[in-house]
Amino acid sequence: MSMFVRKRVLVTGGAGFLGSHLCERLLRDGHDVLCVDNYFTGRKDNIAHLLSNPNFETLRHDISTPLLAEVDEIYNLACPASPKHYQYDPVQTLKTSVLGAIHMLGIARRTGARVFQASTSEVYGDPDVHPQTEDYFGNVNPLGPRACYDEGKRCAETLFFDHRRQHGTRIKVVRIFNTYGPRMHPDDGRVVSNFITQALRGEDITLYGDGGQTRAFCYVSDLIEGFVRMMDSDDDITGPINLGNPHEIPVRELAERVLALTGSRSRIVYLPLPQDDPTQRCPDITRARNLLGWEPQVGLDDGLRRSIDYFDQLLGGRSGVLSGIEAHAVSG
Ligand code: NAD
Ligand code: UDP
Repeated sequence: MSMFVRKRVLVTGGAGFLGSHLCERLLRDGHDVLCVDNYFTGRKDNIAHLLSNPNFETLRHDISTPLLAEVDEIYNLACPASPKHYQYDPVQTLKTSVLGAIHMLGIARRTGARVFQASTSEVYGDPDVHPQTEDYFGNVNPLGPRACYDEGKRCAETLFFDHRRQHGTRIKVVRIFNTYGPRMHPDDGRVVSNFITQALRGEDITLYGDGGQTRAFCYVSDLIEGFVRMMDSDDDITGPINLGNPHEIPVRELAERVLALTGSRSRIVYLPLPQDDPTQRCPDITRARNLLGWEPQVGLDDGLRRSIDYFDQLLGGRSGVLSGIEAHAVSG
């Protein structure tokens, strides 16, 4: 019989999209959570509902500078995740990834804590192996506009595995594929938040390129379940492990789903494809299935409905396009 052990857990980037869902989950599981964030892209609104919980603490701090903490587990999520935000100050993005990893690994080494790294499918760059397996080394342009993010995350992975070899640090590395859901930043330019807010406002849907490029979208609750399973797995499971939903679709189809689910009359306009935009991306999740017993549960339409509901409320319910048809089905 397994006994519950309350852990002290540090979550960097805890006020962001994924971080706030993770803090919520860990508190629900009965743990003590320290959320560290500099609020660059994170928002206090994302964690406002957690502040009354006596097991929840927040610290405004930039992880590219050193931190001392006594904890049992560290989830390192701090890093701007959308191109618009990580390209705003590329040097700071690299500092966050590289120095942030060094500082979190330092805490883990000193305290013996397990340390989890939120890596990314971007380490595969514009992949020529499809779907992407963890042993693929990737195809990244080290000089392009996405490099501050991609190479920063690649360097962080290197640091994690060197720390394990050199110091025996207990590491957990996951590579996250496109994830969506409530509390995505409405203005971060990512495709799901863009399409939904455009549809709700009746604005044009901005499709980049011909919309034939593919992505596979994972709903946030599925991803967080994968995080917790990874952290709770045996020490010899270090990763990297892909976490994402392998249901791959052209981005054009996403636009059509959003239009259908919102009932919006927005029209689709075609804009140029950004430089280095990957033409296809889809996770191979065999490792996650076998090692973690993990499998996404939430289908695209279901997840989109919940996200549409969130953005509709965020926009003040003014859009009116939800007019009863979906509204009853999407709460929660
Ligand atoms: P997000 O921008 O909502 O969250 C990132 C958080 O980190 C924000 O709260 C931000 O304020 C904070 N932060 C940034 N720099 C910091 C610093 N120097 N010190 C302290 N805090 C800092 O993004 P997200 O989607 O929640 O992503 C979380 C993590 O997951 C990131 O590391 C990202 O690279 C990774 N990831 C996300 C996705 C996705 O689809 N959402 C995909 C792959 C990887
Ligand atoms: N995209 C789009 N319209 C938008 C925003 C994004 O067509 O308004 C496309 C983008 O070019 C990319 C895909 O959607 O091919 C996913 O973009 P996102 O920035 O969400 O994630 P990433 O490129 O990092 O996978």
